[in-house]
Amino acid sequence: MTHSPTRDTLERWASGTRVAPLPAREGAAPPAISFEFFPPKTPALEAQLWSCIERLATLGPNFVSVTYGAGGSTQERTHATVLRIVQETNLTPAAHLTCVGATAEAVDEVARRYWAAGVKHIVALRGDAPSGEAYVPHPGGYAYAADLVAGLRRVADFEITVAAYPETHPQAVSPEADLDNLKRKLDAGATRAISQVFFDNGIFLRFLDRALAAGIKAPIVPGIMPVTNFAQAAKFCASCGTSVPKWMESLFDGLDDDIETRRMVAAATTAEQVRILQANGIDEFHFYTLNRPDLVYAIARILGVKPQAA
Ligand SMILES: Cc1cc2nc3c(=O)[nH]c(=O)nc-3n(C[C@H](O)[C@H](O)[C@H](O)COP(=O)(O)OP(=O)(O)OC[C@H]3O[C@@H](n4cnc5c(N)ncnc54)[C@H](O)[C@@H]3O)c2cc1C
Repeated sequence: MTHSPTRDTLERWASGTRVAPLPAREGAAPPAISFEFFPPKTPALEAQLWSCIERLATLGPNFVSVTYGAGGSTQERTHATVLRIVQETNLTPAAHLTCVGATAEAVDEVARRYWAAGVKHIVALRGDAPSGEAYVPHPGGYAYAADLVAGLRRVADFEITVAAYPETHPQAVSPEADLDNLKRKLDAGATRAISQVFFDNGIFLRFLDRALAAGIKAPIVPGIMPVTNFAQAAKFCASCGTSVPKWMESLFDGLDDDIETRRMVAAATTAEQVRILQANGIDEFHFYTLNRPDLVYAIARILGVKPQAA
């Protein structure tokens, strides 16, 4: 090669903003991690879930959580999946539980079944009304997640995790009211919050500042979702109030038929997101796995998490 950059180019490079490097990895303790799965609908999806669980289990997560379908629609499948985790693995399961559309007694009964089966960790949520309908508390039920947390504390000595919204829950009257609600959930007995998915680290870090200023001391663990299918993710984010950066749309533009490149883009962008959070002192991460292990496994490795010795 004989050509060299023109003077203009070099001047532009030499005078550009200098970005501080991420801290060195040497000596840094790996973060704590946890994984979210959803209960499978078919035998084929169940096999996929179990191979996912087996692969991610080697990373020694603090806990693995299993979602509860909208309106409690997967109650039995969630229960069966959580129970199989208890019976067949050394993992610590956390069962998601919602209060929408059920009496407090019915919810308490589900919780009692979990406790009796050895499930001691609940992710306590309000849940949503069926699509397009406004949420109305069940007349005999827990109205909001804070009420559910208080109810669970009466059932047994559960570890309880709740949801947090860096970009404010879509039905909250204001960001301040939503933060007050998070504080109520923690004051009622939850010991950790997991955040709604987000892609803009600045939003999450400012949310931590606001939470701390509001007197919240419990960890608010970032919920991380590697995106390979932009259209699907954008639809989900629109429904839950997560903003999708323009750069993300642009990165996936024209890749609809190129899954391999989409997966590489997902790995690179998510790795960048988690490394920057880690550089900002975050030492606990929760991954929305969508029951697929490979990307999450690679990203956990990038964070410094290694398979545990058997
Ligand atoms: C980590 C995570 C996991 C999730 N897992 C599931 C799952 O497994 N199954 C599922 O169906 N959904 C799940 N969801 C979605 C969740 O159910 C919805 O976001 C739901 O709309 C709110 O649940 P919440 O527990 O945050 O509700 P809450 O904390 O009860 O808040 C809901 C809304 O009500 C407002 N509010 C609270 N208290 C009051 C009050 N007293 N008066 C007026 N307004 C009030 C809040 O500000 C907020 O806008 C999950 C969400 C997250 C972030």
